[in-house]
Amino acid sequence: MIDTHAHLQDEKMLPCDVVIENANKAGVNKIICSSSDIETSKKAVLIANNYECVYATVGVHPEEANTFNETSLKELEKLAEDKKVVAIGEIGLDYHYEFATRETQKSVFIKQINLANKLGLPIVIHTRDASGDTMEILRANLDKLKNGVCIHCFNMSLEILKEIMGYGFYISIGGIVTFNNAKNVLDIVKACDINRLMLETDSPYISPVPFRGGINEPKNVVYSAKKMAELREMLFEDFDKITTDNAMRFFNIKD
Ligand SMILES: [Zn+2]
Repeated sequence: MIDTHAHLQDEKMLPCDVVIENANKAGVNKIICSSSDIETSKKAVLIANNYECVYATVGVHPEEANTFNETSLKELEKLAEDKKVVAIGEIGLDYHYEFATRETQKSVFIKQINLANKLGLPIVIHTRDASGDTMEILRANLDKLKNGVCIHCFNMSLEILKEIMGYGFYISIGGIVTFNNAKNVLDIVKACDINRLMLETDSPYISPVPFRGGINEPKNVVYSAKKMAELREMLFEDFDKITTDNAMRFFNIKD
């Protein structure tokens, strides 16, 4: 099983040794470490080089869009040379907090789409309360998205789900699927193309039931996976195999 989205470098996380051992014991044998800015991107690459089972994405999150400057693209490009870097992310739009203006967020998002295209890497998208503009940018850049797109913690409409499945995009879903009030996410899990679904935790955030409110770790991906397998009326083993294969294919991981 693969946790495709965890912030191992976050200060709230337990030490990597512990977190990775816990994950491996729970059957989670690969972790994609997600980044939010240049500092966390550097840390993700370091961790990925220290642990065979960890891979990194590098990128500037929309909440950090104000930190993006002239040198950011060069630094990301340099970091992406590392063979453990498997995607550019997380990038996108967040109009919930709007820490940076919408215009800044859009420009930083598009610059990183261009970078991923240049480097031949897929992108991992964060989008919150910004469905309209996110989709507008993706539709306008489809020719630059051939290396793959994953919308993480996907919670947009079923209509958009249908559209993006048509483009061959992937989604990843985590702990929210275990919450009682998650009707939209339950519908998404049932309606999505099973060959485009990946598992994530977004650790240290969004702990699944029964750990809701606690610090999340990659090992907990099993709880959301069980719930999703149930929703799809699949054997857990089959669901695990398919979603693991999806992640290997999306991130271009060979072994
Ligand atoms: Zn994240």
